[in-house]
Amino acid sequence: MPYRTIIEPFRIHSVQAIDFPTGEQRQEALLRAGYNLFGLHGDEVIIDLLTDSGTGAMSAQQWAGMMVGDESYAGSRSFYRLRDVIEDLTGLQEIIPTHQGRAAEKILFTTVVNEGDVVPNNTHFDTTRANVEYQNAEARDLVISEGIDPSSEAPFKGNMDVVALVRTIEEVGRERVPLIMVTVTNNSGGGQPVSMANLRAVREVCNRYEIPFFLDACRFAENAWFIKQREEGYADRTPKEIAQEMFSLVDGCTMSAKKDGLSNIGGFLAMNNPHVARQCRNLLILTEGFPTYGGLAGYDLEAIAQGLVEVLQEEYLRYRIRSTGYLADKVSGAGVPIVRPPGGHAVYLDAKSFLGHIPPHEYPAQALAVELYREGGVRGVEIGSVMFGKPQPDGTELPAAMELVRLAVPRRTYTQSHIDYVGEVVIAVAERAEHLRGYRIVEQAPWLRHFTARFEPV
Ligand SMILES: *Cc1c(COP(=O)(O)O)cnc(C)c1O
Repeated sequence: MPYRTIIEPFRIHSVQAIDFPTGEQRQEALLRAGYNLFGLHGDEVIIDLLTDSGTGAMSAQQWAGMMVGDESYAGSRSFYRLRDVIEDLTGLQEIIPTHQGRAAEKILFTTVVNEGDVVPNNTHFDTTRANVEYQNAEARDLVISEGIDPSSEAPFKGNMDVVALVRTIEEVGRERVPLIMVTVTNNSGGGQPVSMANLRAVREVCNRYEIPFFLDACRFAENAWFIKQREEGYADRTPKEIAQEMFSLVDGCTMSAKKDGLSNIGGFLAMNNPHVARQCRNLLILTEGFPTYGGLAGYDLEAIAQGLVEVLQEEYLRYRIRSTGYLADKVSGAGVPIVRPPGGHAVYLDAKSFLGHIPPHEYPAQALAVELYREGGVRGVEIGSVMFGKPQPDGTELPAAMELVRLAVPRRTYTQSHIDYVGEVVIAVAERAEHLRGYRIVEQAPWLRHFTARFEPV
């Protein structure tokens, strides 16, 4: 086939205006927000790449589904539609809707994780880590070494280090490992995929030690696409078949429908163990709602059910992964260091090699994120020592392994010209990188501090 531009596989049906705050207004907004981009108002942002979570555009069919959503408190038809879609996709028997992925995590970990336990994961997402630690357990990241080397071109940098996994289980004892998780794609490690072979190897370890295996499945469809593109034997399989095979290897999953559910809210917890599921449903009733709605409206359940179908369409996934790759090509073509190869949902700028003159305790990735906003109203997010630095008893901090700014691409929301603009802003900041200064934290919460911390320029 001749080379053609991979186009957005949709036409626009309804639009939302973008606001254009001036440079002066952006400066004022930064001061008010304490240089924390989570403190900005949406209308102070021109292109919002803070997250791909819940920021996607729904399809006409999802909106149509919302109109026929069944709001029955118990036994909603929309719940059964969602349950059938998830069962068909995952093969898992017990399906528990929740209002977000973190609610699924909280309910699962409250039920199965005890004080002193160790939960291995390739890389814990921030809410996953916090929910493990809230149980006074340890969240241990065991991604392969290529996964923390931003320049490595390895195809599956999200893979779990299976040798380190076995070592961990032998060291702490299998009774202290209540479950093993793998995050697909590996969000906090650069949106990198996990291979089917690696999932199979983790499954074998789980079998050997009789430990349940859960997927953090937020981006299962993007992961399936990478397997189709990169792993031998999968080129002719459909994304859905690949996703089904991924889920066939696990005992359960947590899911945020705000990612590959193509929805603005929602999530679910699914598993095969009916005893654990019963305990989880009891907690669900306490904190989320009745088991057939789990904190969601009937119309949300419809939107998620339809989203889980659409997200596996090949034209969608081809465009989706290309739109991220397009931004990556643009900025790395101009010499801006990024995590290679680009991940599924985001481009990660490598602030450590980009801003070598700013030490980790002055948060180089935070400095870069602030500057992208100041320069062009582009909002990304720091994924570095603000998010993952570990305060020590002596007042110093253990820095994170990487200092990244994540530019997450919302699903079906921005066009190619928006992305061109983002590339131009990144390149403009890169040209004056040596003039950027670090930040210090002046106020912070005991966990998930990145959401609310306030900063001052050093
Ligand atoms: C978003 C996300 C979560 C949490 O989901 P929410 O819906 O935001 O609560 C968990 N894990 C990963 C990998 C995520 O990307």
